[in-house]
Amino acid sequence: MGLTKKIIIALILGVAVGLGFNLFAPGAFVPLDTYVLTPLGQIFLKLITMLVVPLVFFSIVLGTAGMGDTKKLGRIGIKTVGFYLISTVVALCIAFGVALAIQPGQEGLMGTEEANFEATEPPPVMETLLNIIPTNPIDALATGQMLQIIFFAIFVGFALAHLGEKTSGMYKLMEQGNEIMMFLVTIAMKLAPYGAFGLIASAIGKLGLDALSSMAMYMLCVVLALILHVTVVYSGVVYALGKMNPLHFFKNFAPAMTVAFSTSSSNATLPLSMKTAQDKLGVSKPVSGFVQPLGATINMDGTAIMQAVATVFIAQVFAEPLSVGALVTVVLTATLASIGTAGVPGVGMIMLAMVLQSVGLPVEGIALVLAVDRILDMLRTAVNITGDAACAVFVDRSEGEKDKVETA
Ligand code: ASP
Repeated sequence: MGLTKKIIIALILGVAVGLGFNLFAPGAFVPLDTYVLTPLGQIFLKLITMLVVPLVFFSIVLGTAGMGDTKKLGRIGIKTVGFYLISTVVALCIAFGVALAIQPGQEGLMGTEEANFEATEPPPVMETLLNIIPTNPIDALATGQMLQIIFFAIFVGFALAHLGEKTSGMYKLMEQGNEIMMFLVTIAMKLAPYGAFGLIASAIGKLGLDALSSMAMYMLCVVLALILHVTVVYSGVVYALGKMNPLHFFKNFAPAMTVAFSTSSSNATLPLSMKTAQDKLGVSKPVSGFVQPLGATINMDGTAIMQAVATVFIAQVFAEPLSVGALVTVVLTATLASIGTAGVPGVGMIMLAMVLQSVGLPVEGIALVLAVDRILDMLRTAVNITGDAACAVFVDRSEGEKDKVETA
């Protein structure tokens, strides 16, 4: 049986177990969760997260070095960042369209919930941008500062390409490091079905059906916008720009999507999403190694969709109409906010606080959507990494012919 099938079966079993305990044996759920479900999920999650920092470093160094000249790197960089920005703006527009058409919020819903969400101050834009340059790369690696790691790795890769023979030993070392990490990904993935089972059973068991049903309209809007974005935008991109059959793309990329769904973390899924794009979708290693780690950090279309729907929802609950200017502000803030925050569970909620503040909506509104966010986080993370893979297919194809000429 294939990995995707195994993970999907594990997810279904997990939902059944979580829901069963929540409904029929809530007392027994806590010990089960503490001693079985959470550890099961965490072991898997930690094992794959363990590989992320070294893998991102090696693959970006190799990706940059493999591109050879700065012109090509610049071109790919512009294509990638351009794609990420445009796709996020499109995602936000789709989400606004869906939310404004369905109108998921009702006035007065607030007050039944505890409003206890602490807002974090949005960091100034200039500081976020300057912060991309690490003052101490070892510190960046040690603390997992993704953008800083990416920045440093691009420089190292550039140096390797430039110095050529002189640093061939180092290049080889990076290649072998990358091989080791990729090999370990394969081993860690054997645990994926167990991890997925533990993670979803724990989440569903804690949440229960009541919380889910009261937020049905909001969830429906997010899910609808996510589905539209994936089926229309990503399929379109893969087909038109990537010259690939969308069915082939989704079928082969499915294992990574199910792992993103189980872990709610683009970062943790990165090793697998890169491996899948390289092995199953035929994306070249330099392009995948550059485009996907960058995407896991700065491209979060699914998260943007949740934020747009949540903003409309909260505005309706508080009976505060959103002007067109406010919608534009949301687009700008949500796009910028996603750049500096790495793909880990729940970060979308912190960014939502910034988005709400930017349009003067009460941050307490987050309390409303927080309960069901665990589930939506799973769905949007799967969308987030699919966007990165679609971009990788597009960039790879658009560079493909030039590659052949260069290597011929
Ligand atoms: N969990 C998401 C990711 O890793 C980010 C978020 O929306 O919270 O991509």
